[in-house]
Amino acid sequence: MNILQGIRDYRLLNRHLYRFSNEQIRAYQLSELQKLVVFSMNHAPFYSDLYRGLPVGSLEDFRQLPSINKQIMMDHFDDINTCGLKLAAVRDYAVQRELYKEYLGYYQDQYVIGLSSGTSGNKGIYVTPKTMTERLPFAFLARSGLSSRDLPFRILFLLRVFSQGFEDINAPFIHLNYLSTMTPVDDIIRRINDDRINILMAPPSLVRQLLPWAGTITRPLKMIVSYAEVLEKEEKERFRRSFGTRVIEIYQASEGQIGSTCRCGNLHINEDLVFIELYDKNGEPVDRPGPLGTRMLLTNLINTAQPLIRYEMNDLIQLGERCPCGSSFRVIDKVLGRNDDVLYLANKNNILQPVYPDLVSRWIITTSDNIREFRVSQISHSRLEITIDVLDSTGETGAAVVERLRDRLTSELSSYGIDADVGIRVEAIRLPETMAKYKRFIGLAPEAADDS
Ligand SMILES: [Zn+2]
Repeated sequence: MNILQGIRDYRLLNRHLYRFSNEQIRAYQLSELQKLVVFSMNHAPFYSDLYRGLPVGSLEDFRQLPSINKQIMMDHFDDINTCGLKLAAVRDYAVQRELYKEYLGYYQDQYVIGLSSGTSGNKGIYVTPKTMTERLPFAFLARSGLSSRDLPFRILFLLRVFSQGFEDINAPFIHLNYLSTMTPVDDIIRRINDDRINILMAPPSLVRQLLPWAGTITRPLKMIVSYAEVLEKEEKERFRRSFGTRVIEIYQASEGQIGSTCRCGNLHINEDLVFIELYDKNGEPVDRPGPLGTRMLLTNLINTAQPLIRYEMNDLIQLGERCPCGSSFRVIDKVLGRNDDVLYLANKNNILQPVYPDLVSRWIITTSDNIREFRVSQISHSRLEITIDVLDSTGETGAAVVERLRDRLTSELSSYGIDADVGIRVEAIRLPETMAKYKRFIGLAPEAADDS
């Protein structure tokens, strides 16, 4: 790992975030997109066929290119990646590693292979060059709102999505240690104390596991950086209170680094790392706060190993107002979750009403601080089954939490005219040991959802 390279990245990314005007962003994006399209047509047979005779002279031209999705990406894996990787071999490798829980090392010593879960079990396989993943921590730092006043950085990075042999960094002002999210909680706490960690980077599901130990951290953290999962505003506040520190968010997916936090604490789209197109349910572009973007297309501007161009994402986001930090990068007000996490419940007129996952999460999280983890399964259009994992170290019994949660959900749903049957049970929820993301919402199969 090259520290100088890291510092250069840090400066460049900072300049883009705070200095670029709207026009500069658009010009930069067009030039990066054009380079990406040319490179992909030259190196990926899939794209040379797909884009033949379609010139990209403007962003409008680019928006006319055919889009792809995970299925298409997987069907044409060999012809989309530009490193000569073969799906059969890469898949074997990824599955073997999960089977034997061997997360160290790189594929062919050069690539990080990421595996994502999906609806109906179709897994996506994502290729990131080793050289790029090694630069990620600096990109994270540049987009964390931290300044040089906060030096030295002593970072503990808990990894789930990219779990391979990262090398720890020990430079004068930056210490970076990696640990797997599967490390026992008391070991993580010991590591935080022994290494005098001041920045913790972890998925919120992991931070939640650390909550009961917050009081045993001997030196206060400067910052918690949440990534890989949606962080609810209420939960952010709870982490802030419990750990007595700033909590910021990185919005990252297997497909790219979509957003990160500025110095004012707001989430911005990383306009220089990804090109994000948002459309509403009528297919109209969404470019202002308010309307819900129900269709999101992502183009990864920096990963050419497996070019993802106009790639259909499943995320639902809402844009926010311009940020006082002065950045022209679009602000994300809310990540409402993934499209396939939306619950569809029948209201009293027997019309299916979408209930967004962020809302349900908020109802559950704010009912009791003792709910450590939860899972919501939609059984039918009138029944939900909810599993909660309750902290046992506190006075309140599981039964009392269940009662309060049932009352809360029933009353919240009835305000939408929904009279659903809510089953709740208390059970220890184990987070998955694989790299696949934990699925908190399990919706109906698409056929069942259409079948109203
Ligand atoms: Zn900002």
